[in-house]
Amino acid sequence: MNASITLRNQKKPTLLSIIVPAYNEIEVIEEFYNRLSLAMDAIKQNYEIVFINDGSQDATLSIMKSLRDENEEITIVDLSRNFGKEIATTAGIDASKGDATVIIDADLQDPPELIEKLIEKWSEGYDVVYAQRKQRDGETWIKKKSAELFYLLMQKLGPVKLPVNTGDFRMMSKDATEAVKQLREHNRFMKGIFAWVGFPSIGVTYNRDSRYAGETKWNYIKLWNLSIDGITAFTIAPLKLATYMGLIIAAASFIYAIYIIFKVLVIGEAVQGFPTLAILILLLGGIQLIFLGIIGEYLGRVFSETKNRPLYFTKQVLQSKFNTLNNDDQSG
Ligand code: UDP
Ligand code: MG
Repeated sequence: MNASITLRNQKKPTLLSIIVPAYNEIEVIEEFYNRLSLAMDAIKQNYEIVFINDGSQDATLSIMKSLRDENEEITIVDLSRNFGKEIATTAGIDASKGDATVIIDADLQDPPELIEKLIEKWSEGYDVVYAQRKQRDGETWIKKKSAELFYLLMQKLGPVKLPVNTGDFRMMSKDATEAVKQLREHNRFMKGIFAWVGFPSIGVTYNRDSRYAGETKWNYIKLWNLSIDGITAFTIAPLKLATYMGLIIAAASFIYAIYIIFKVLVIGEAVQGFPTLAILILLLGGIQLIFLGIIGEYLGRVFSETKNRPLYFTKQVLQSKFNTLNNDDQSG
C-alpha cells in the first residue's frame, strides 16, 4: 500500500458488530452461527451479531430468534419485505453498535475464521480491511470473465478505484461505518459506496469457498442489473459517449457528403446507392436508440432518488444486550 498514508494506532475493537444479511438461509444459518461463534471465542473478541432477515419466506427468522434466545449478543432486524442484499446490509449497519463492523455473508462463502486476519490488519491502523479472494470456487467461467470485465470498466470509468475480486466481506472502523451510513442513495451499489467514502484501506487475501448449502440468489439478469447500477451510480461517462460518438459520426458524414457531391457533379454518376442509404439509416437509428436507453437509465435513477423514500421498513428490531448498555451509558 501507499507508504505515505499515516495510520493511527488502534487495538482490538471493544465491540465488533458482525453484520449478516440473510434471505432464505434456513439451511446454513445455524451452521454459520456455530462457526462464527467458535472463531470469535477462539480469538476472545467481544462481539455482537446483527442478523438481518431480508423478508425470507422460509423459517430463517425463527431460527435467528431461537439463536437469540440462547445468546443475548444477537440483534435481529426483521425487514418488512425482501429489499435485496444491499439494503439489508445498510439496515444492519444502521443497527450496529460496535466501534468496528464486519460485513459477512450467511452462506459461509466468506469464512468467519478470516475475521481474525481482518482484525490484525485493523490493529495496524487501517480503517477498512477488505477480504480479497484469490480464486473463485464454484463459479462458472462466464461469471468469472464477466466480473473481470466489469471491474475493468469501473476502473476505467469511475472516480474511485474498486479493489478487484472484492465483495462486501470487510471490516470497517467507526469512522468508515458512519461515513457509509450517511450515503442514503437508493441506487445502492455497496462496493462503490465503500470505495467512495475513502479512508486508509487494505486487502487480505483468502480462498472463497463454495456455498455451504442452498442456492445463490444471483442470476445473470440480476448481475447485469447490478453492473448497470454500479456504472450509473458512479460515473456519467456513458452519457458523454453520446456527444463524442455524435461528433465522430458528424465529421465522417461531412467527408462522405463531399465525396458524394463530387461523384454526382464532377463524374456525373446517376442516382444510386439504396443499400448505402438503408445501412446508414439503420445504423444511425440503432445508435440513437442505444443512447436514448442510456439517458433513460440515468433518468430512471433520478426519478427514484427524487422520490426520496426511506430505504427500508422494519417489522421489528430485537436488540442485543449491548443496546441497553449503550442507553445506560447515555443516560448516566
Ligand atoms: N441476501 C440478502 N437478500 C437478498 C439476497 C441475498 O440478504 O435479496 C444475502 C444472502 O442471504 C447471503 C448474502 O446476501 O447472506 C449473499 O447472497 P448470495 O450467496 O445469494 O450471493 P453470492 O454469494 O452468490 O454473491
Ligand atoms: Mg453466496
